[in-house]
Amino acid sequence: MPAQDEPRPHSLGLEPSPDESLQSYVFRLARRRRTEPPHALAIRLGWARLATRVRRDVVERLAREAQVPLKSLLPLWRGDPDNSHVLFWNRRLPVSALDWRSGAGRKVCPECLAEFGRHLAVWDLSFVSACPIHRAALVDTCLACKLPLSWKGDDVAWCGCAAGGDLRRIRAAPVTLEQAHATACVQGMLGDPRFASEGAEALARPPFQNMTPGRAVEFLVRLGLDAVATRPRRQPFAFERLGDYDVPPHESLARALAAVGNWPTGFPAVLDHLRRHHVTDVGEATRRVTTPVVRWVTHVSGGGGKEIRRAVAEYRRATRALPGYVSWHDKRKARAAAIRSDGEE
Ligand SMILES: [Zn+2]
Ligand SMILES: [Zn+2]
Repeated sequence: MPAQDEPRPHSLGLEPSPDESLQSYVFRLARRRRTEPPHALAIRLGWARLATRVRRDVVERLAREAQVPLKSLLPLWRGDPDNSHVLFWNRRLPVSALDWRSGAGRKVCPECLAEFGRHLAVWDLSFVSACPIHRAALVDTCLACKLPLSWKGDDVAWCGCAAGGDLRRIRAAPVTLEQAHATACVQGMLGDPRFASEGAEALARPPFQNMTPGRAVEFLVRLGLDAVATRPRRQPFAFERLGDYDVPPHESLARALAAVGNWPTGFPAVLDHLRRHHVTDVGEATRRVTTPVVRWVTHVSGGGGKEIRRAVAEYRRATRALPGYVSWHDKRKARAAAIRSDGEE
């Protein structure tokens, strides 16, 4: 923080950090300049609300305003609001990868916030719920006002409520080593330089051959949600949590990573787990659980996902030998026979 008697008009040399969110930079810039609150600054530049994605021209305006090169702000940009994907450090992710797209949520690691004085971009991801460095769950509620954290007030480290709410003083719940490691892997896969080796190691796993890191992360998120489901998912293998989970993302990621690390047996074990929740016959349950995987993997470009396709085919083949399996063909034959016998009576 500069002394208050430093009358410098513009950015005051405030460089954006590639690991922070655009909201974080707007907050820090407004605080450094002390001429208007962050929300006023954001709205003047073209934001509708602070916790939304903005068009590139808003980022260009921010760069001019702050007198920093546009290219230093682009890593903080999440892509055009009209895009059906989110940009995250040059990787493409489904739109629901961003937690705050509905405008409410914000979550933080209190210790990182104290250390860096900025809001890290990875905390905005729906599947990141732990800090691998501090082995702690991210915090999403203010202790002072008991309300969900959002982008209020004028300091990135404070809740912004009337009760105060220093986010750096909140004690976060610990997570296990596996949960922290899984989160580190995913952050590394996305390009977080602090976890480059964890990311590279995860990307070397067989299912991720020829797959972009963004797609590989997507696979882990989808598989993790299947792995922790306690009832049939409305959409198996969906990227969205759809509100029916008690298990936090750091646990579902840990399960997905364990399944991928134990390739190829770990993957069919997850499919099996999800299939058992279906009350329909084995054949139908297998189709429900595997069809979305095949549909997804078909859209993976560049020859990636071959191992996944192969594993699904093998799983389907093995299912046919199970007791209670009825194929589509047998079902049709049985239906035709029933109709014939009805006619004979
Ligand atoms: Zn932390
Ligand atoms: Zn508060």
